[in-house]
Amino acid sequence: MSNNIRRGFVLVISSPSGAGKTTICKKIIEDVDGIDLSVSVTTRQKRKGEINGKDYFFRSDKEFKTLEKNEEFLENANVFGFSYGTLKKEVVSKIEKGIDIIVDIDWQGTRQIQKYIPNDIVKVFILPPSIKELENRLGKRASEDKENFLKRMSEARKEISHYIEYDFVIINNEIEKAVSQIKSILFSERLRRYRQLNLNKLIDNLK
Ligand code: 5GP
Repeated sequence: MSNNIRRGFVLVISSPSGAGKTTICKKIIEDVDGIDLSVSVTTRQKRKGEINGKDYFFRSDKEFKTLEKNEEFLENANVFGFSYGTLKKEVVSKIEKGIDIIVDIDWQGTRQIQKYIPNDIVKVFILPPSIKELENRLGKRASEDKENFLKRMSEARKEISHYIEYDFVIINNEIEKAVSQIKSILFSERLRRYRQLNLNKLIDNLK
């Protein structure tokens, strides 16, 4: 039997762009022990303030294709015309060591992870409180031009239509509340019987 106290899981956080997902994920990593954020690979341009290796691994199309060919991705998808992917090495060995991993990915990637590790995934969808609020948040992003903004609004509507594929839905009215709700999910999921690997031993001792 493994010495791990529990098996980790992948906490998928999806939302339309501008629902506050990145801020929420960062806050959870800061506040909670035993959970890491998976850094994705992308072919999109680096935005102002982003750091290679921290926010994303920024790679060329060719480099991305090589990673794909070498089966290094747990999932990968085309989002807004660019390639994005989660590396197996960011996830698989860590959950076996009892570390939970937050992944900030779209619905396409979520479906792939669901197929690959169906018992080790918990899926949370974050909704903005209203379309007006979503427009405000997307419009406020300095690096987006008008055309890009409209494209993202249309993509946001498409992403929202997939909320039904998720286990939990959180409405991000207030960031602190959303973070606290995700923490509740996280702490409950950690207690699932099949994730507690040493239970048999304890039960034997309790007989
Ligand atoms: P952004 O370029 O604004 O950081 O992210 C755009 C979208 O790509 C977001 O919805 C985000 O969740 C998604 N995304 C980021 N990384 C990955 C990934 O590794 N895989 C997939 N499938 N989607 C991702």
